[in-house]
Amino acid sequence: MESQGPRYTSSCAVCGKPARIFLGSTSYCLSCYNHLSDYLAGVQTPTNDNYQILALDPKGHTVEFSVERYAFGTRSIWTAVEQVAQDDPRKQEGYVGRSVSIAVDAQRTSQDEAFDALMVKVQCLVGHASVRAVPISLGEAGSTSARFGGRALYANETGVARIEVDERGEKSVVVDGQRLSPQQFVDMLSCFEGFDLYWQMRDAADEPPAWLQ
Ligand SMILES: [Zn+2]
Repeated sequence: MESQGPRYTSSCAVCGKPARIFLGSTSYCLSCYNHLSDYLAGVQTPTNDNYQILALDPKGHTVEFSVERYAFGTRSIWTAVEQVAQDDPRKQEGYVGRSVSIAVDAQRTSQDEAFDALMVKVQCLVGHASVRAVPISLGEAGSTSARFGGRALYANETGVARIEVDERGEKSVVVDGQRLSPQQFVDMLSCFEGFDLYWQMRDAADEPPAWLQ
């Protein structure tokens, strides 16, 4: 839906805010695009694209997300993106934050219902640790971990990872918000050497598996 044109360089044709959606020669901000899409599809749901969500991680820390909605006809994708401050020291080690999505039929699901479902999924995913990090100074770091600065990362028995490929074709895996190279991902899993690894792929907007709920 988004064009190949330069992003953020033109203004929304409706309200003048920076544009993010480019349809032919017309540019829209996300909010105006959603309004237009809802109108064309006959969706009655009011749009509110400026939500924040707070969730608790397994250590009891508050994690802040901002929420965006993309409308595609009567289908809406809601995505909560973890807010990572510019000066967050974890950024230097490849921390990109977590993102959680759901897809709903806007004709049958109200915005409040969709938002509640998104909050449940955010807490479900954020409340589960896929990795444990141990300071290397504690002496536990062996060869069966991925190393990051002063920490060794070990995979937990169950986890969730997001596979990403950037515009240069570089592949990476994001686990608990931390970007890992393919080698680091395997290193992290190698604490289970000799075990079988079963995997199941899910669309990012699908329901999480039963063991996470
Ligand atoms: Zn606009």
